[in-house]
Amino acid sequence: MPPRAEPGTPLYVHLPFCAAKCPYCDFYSVAGDDLDTGGVIEAVLREAERFAPRAPRTVFFGGGTPSFHSPDELRRLLSELERITAFRESAEEVTFECNPESLDAEKARLLVEHGVDRVSIGFQSLEPAVLELFGRVHTVDQSFRAYGAAREAGVPRIAVDLIYGAPGQGVDAWTRGLERVLALGPDHLSAYNLTFEPGTPFAQWLAEGKLAQEPEAVELELFERTRAIAASRGMEAYEVSNFASKGEECRHNLNYWRNGPYVGLGPSAVSKVGHTRRGRPRSIGAWRRALEGDGEEWAFEETLSPKARLGETWWLGLRLARGVDPEEARRAAGFVAAEGKPDPAEETAGRLAADGLLERVGERFRLTVRGLPLADRVATHFLEPSRE
Ligand code: SF4
Repeated sequence: MPPRAEPGTPLYVHLPFCAAKCPYCDFYSVAGDDLDTGGVIEAVLREAERFAPRAPRTVFFGGGTPSFHSPDELRRLLSELERITAFRESAEEVTFECNPESLDAEKARLLVEHGVDRVSIGFQSLEPAVLELFGRVHTVDQSFRAYGAAREAGVPRIAVDLIYGAPGQGVDAWTRGLERVLALGPDHLSAYNLTFEPGTPFAQWLAEGKLAQEPEAVELELFERTRAIAASRGMEAYEVSNFASKGEECRHNLNYWRNGPYVGLGPSAVSKVGHTRRGRPRSIGAWRRALEGDGEEWAFEETLSPKARLGETWWLGLRLARGVDPEEARRAAGFVAAEGKPDPAEETAGRLAADGLLERVGERFRLTVRGLPLADRVATHFLEPSRE
């Protein structure tokens, strides 16, 4: 049996309900009628009693749409989780993901009263036509109202999520929307390129020719313009798709990119404790059954080799602007090169540097201006040779 998480381990809670299922989304989420929202909160709390770390350093409620729950359910979730983990004393960051249609003044106040100090609001787009294409149920006005409600309630840190690269959107419309969002003065911005994830309706529509992906040159321009505009507003691109004003980086996600340990609760949630990673089923029913007995039923469980862990540490770490120090990566992964053999990840980094995709700055390797938009492709070089 894998070790229990140490006190302080970051905690993620997956709340799977949404007002509607967006056709581009491949997170595990459920929409419809007769949703047992209260039952899922109770099951999460039972799982927390058994698996949540005491005194987590960070807590992140994601989904799904955590703000979909009623005020009573949110009150119960947050106060019971506090009883179980005492997170309010320990956590340096407690993030709650919200969608504009379900964040109002009452919920924003409730979140603050129960220890949430950061909300992340899914604006996604400021164009009605794009919101409709994305299957979103909120309007542009609702996004601004939700943001205002969070500010008025005194949420200390507010993050906004946007997606660029919608088919036919164009660069000018995107930049106008981005400027409007940044004029609000959010502490943090996530700007993701639209992806066509296998198994989603968007991927199917792409295959059927009902949707067309933006040309690579347009995606590159969107990427570069986003960075330039964010920088002009004092928001540093501390990760490939994430921007923050000074000190406002998402500490919970920084732990993922540093390949740190974490515990996940809820259906589809993944935990990494020690060198073992294990995940819950992507189904509410199967997850609830998995919690019966000792709760040690997992959809998957794997213990990675030191070499694979090293590859992952590079793969994740290169997404950060600070890049990767080979010595730190070896230590984090628990990797020791065999006598006379080089570190395979450092060798790969050297090759990518010769190709102009990485650069060495002091002890660290980081993506070059040319490598940045190709971060996903660069990363695969570290995963393949590192598998045992
Ligand atoms: S609201 Fe978010 S989690 Fe829910 S379906 Fe849409 S993108 Fe996915």
